[in-house]
Amino acid sequence: MPEKTRLLTPGPTPLPERVRLALARDMLHHRKDEFKAIMGRVQTNLRLLFGTAGPVLPLSCSGTGAMTAAAHCLFQPGEKVLVAEAGKFGQRWAQIAAMRGLEVVTLSAPWGEAVTAKAVTEKLDGDPAIAGVLIQHSETSTGVLHPVREVAAVCRAREVLLVADGISAVGLCPCPMDEWGLDCLLTGSQKGLMLPPGLALLALSPRAWKKAESVPPGCFYFNLVKERDNLAKGQTNFTSPVNLILGLDESLALLLEHGLEAVYRKQWALTMLARTGVSAMGLSLFARKNFSWGLTSVLLPEGVDGGAVLRCAAEKFGVLMAGGQDHLKGRIVRLGHMGYVDWADVAAGLFALNQGLKEAGGFCGARDYLEQALAAWRAALAVPPGTMPPPTHS
Ligand SMILES: *Cc1c(COP(=O)(O)O)cnc(C)c1O
Repeated sequence: MPEKTRLLTPGPTPLPERVRLALARDMLHHRKDEFKAIMGRVQTNLRLLFGTAGPVLPLSCSGTGAMTAAAHCLFQPGEKVLVAEAGKFGQRWAQIAAMRGLEVVTLSAPWGEAVTAKAVTEKLDGDPAIAGVLIQHSETSTGVLHPVREVAAVCRAREVLLVADGISAVGLCPCPMDEWGLDCLLTGSQKGLMLPPGLALLALSPRAWKKAESVPPGCFYFNLVKERDNLAKGQTNFTSPVNLILGLDESLALLLEHGLEAVYRKQWALTMLARTGVSAMGLSLFARKNFSWGLTSVLLPEGVDGGAVLRCAAEKFGVLMAGGQDHLKGRIVRLGHMGYVDWADVAAGLFALNQGLKEAGGFCGARDYLEQALAAWRAALAVPPGTMPPPTHS
């Protein structure tokens, strides 16, 4: 019998059987009534997931496509934007904005830390020409949550649009768009939504729609105003990613079955499981505070080769985790616990990490790290509803 492989990367993530069966359906025509009815149900549930009264547009592209669409539809060449840069995906915002012809001002924080709302305020007050702030809710390259809610409040008080890349946050930790005053929230299918890659979702606030209507289309494929008008008829501009929408219909049903509070609690508890286990092993958590709820980044001891740890985990235990990027390559391990992942998967991830470290000569820490981790998981699940910590001050 082949060993079971556990995909514990921060995207793509494992697929529930119900979603895989939905994906396997025969083709529907994207302009006929049966598909339009499904689009209607998906739309209702997407608005619940995003916490918005406005439309949530499905786009046929990976998450970066939605980032590109936002940069093209909300800003015109020559406009100035502030990019929160504390990791690989913050850098991607800067690249996308520059390629759109925007003038980019960056607000940097060391990788592993979050930017602060105070620093954003100072930048905006110092430069009234800034028309937008581009930020990650969860910076997946480091496992850090930026204080998007607080930054949104700063932008709300000014004529500044807050554009949040929620690709490793939506469906994983709370980000109620309307309540927090986000002007754009976007995500991709292959992380919290438990779907294959290839579908992105994007929503705008009323004031962002007003802005989008005033921006001359800068891109033929990504025209959000046209997408919105088609969505009102249960359609997309071009051929819909039919099977991904069928899968999304099922994954939204799964997410909403027990309520979003239960989804976030599950994610919070898995995060506590992973963090407690890593600490009990004597390892350092790379994101000390403001950590993501869908992945845990681990700083490896000096001299330990991260590549060797990942190889051992994969080859001996069938656990696939991710390493670091750029200067963090070989230095950190990212243990993903997004989507269709449970306590046993994360425990397997911790065990494989521990064994990989032992092999690489860097093991230290408590023998009962798994017991400690599972106790933290149970304790997190037992906290009364409504008393989970707010996501940016965890
Ligand atoms: C995964 C990810 C992306 C990239 O998404 P693609 O689907 O690979 O284009 C962008 N931003 C964040 C925060 C991510 O986690």
